[in-house]
Amino acid sequence: MQLFHDVANQIKCQPLIDWKALNRPVVGYTCSQVPAEIFHAAGILPIRMRGIETDGMDIGDAYYGPFICSFPKCLLQLVGKGAYKFIDGAVITPGCDAMRRLDECWRKAGEDYDGIIPGFFYYFDVPHKAEGHGMEWFVEEIEYLIAEIEDYFKVTITDENLRAAILEYNKGRRLLSEIESMRTSETPVVSGSDMFAATIAGTVMPRAQYNEELTQWMASLSQSPPMENVRKRIMLIGSITDDPDLIRLIETDTDAMVVAENLCFGVRSEGRPVDEDADPISALAEHYLGESTCPRMYGRYKQRLAVLKEKIEQSHVDGVIMQNIRFCDLHGAENALFEKDLEAEGIPCLRLEREYGPMIDKGRLKLRINAFLERLGRGRKYASSN
Ligand code: SF4
Repeated sequence: MQLFHDVANQIKCQPLIDWKALNRPVVGYTCSQVPAEIFHAAGILPIRMRGIETDGMDIGDAYYGPFICSFPKCLLQLVGKGAYKFIDGAVITPGCDAMRRLDECWRKAGEDYDGIIPGFFYYFDVPHKAEGHGMEWFVEEIEYLIAEIEDYFKVTITDENLRAAILEYNKGRRLLSEIESMRTSETPVVSGSDMFAATIAGTVMPRAQYNEELTQWMASLSQSPPMENVRKRIMLIGSITDDPDLIRLIETDTDAMVVAENLCFGVRSEGRPVDEDADPISALAEHYLGESTCPRMYGRYKQRLAVLKEKIEQSHVDGVIMQNIRFCDLHGAENALFEKDLEAEGIPCLRLEREYGPMIDKGRLKLRINAFLERLGRGRKYASSN
């Protein structure tokens, strides 16, 4: 478990250093809709790019301007400072408009900062609809990506390699969802921050090593006693977060635990298996686009609300904390709708706006979270048994 926290808390973590020491390639990607299995099938380590460890914003501000989500700005800041110089490739996606602009801002910054554009620099388009033409388009995008990787890295990605990669990734997904059930149960044995660190680690570590660590962790959890002092069961949703500190803020010095989340670095993306029997490219397309519950997907609000309600019910959630990064339109707008619909059913909600990055407004957030937890204490719809 300590390894997961080490990996979650630093960009250049030990498993990555070990991988690079063997002269093996690494590709960074920016969104949960990029099929990591493709890189694994090519012998490349795919790592999800994170904005942790940012200690300034001069580069991010210079190319993006001030009125935009601070997550892609932190990525650009780190790129400009050379923190990602170890990657051999980068894949940018149009998750939202701010993430799409990372492509042009990074290229522009590359004119001023030497060596920050990796040899393989690829824009991977992701449609906003999964129906009909949207799915055909996405399948084509996956095929183009495969062809470009083969050409640049001089590798061959066969259906057989892809199937093996899907099996390896699914192994981790199944382990994660088993562990997830140990936290959503009425007597959880795993904390929200440990669970989140483990899912983040899965987006960075070599898969076989990750699966091994998960197996060992699960064995130790099955011997663990239930966690004490869990009286308020919280669900955390909203904008991108890749920092277990946000969850720790809710769980530290309180009687609350984050028993569920719906975050794109969390089990929402990492816990569902890909179809192992279908054609591998179609199966990946169906998984990464067809099953996406990101608010960037058009016309799926009711489906996302249903997913949320199901999770709230299954995990006996007492209250939902919905956060959005300032200027994040997707989650800002969606959180307002969720709040209206969930409160109407008696599920208490707290809406928080924050900046991404080192927790600069920690005091304000903690104050609001504690006030919300007090409100839960006064009358909860789903009372926990503890
Ligand atoms: S919130 Fe959606 S668009 Fe943004 S990074 Fe996550 S999956 Fe991609």
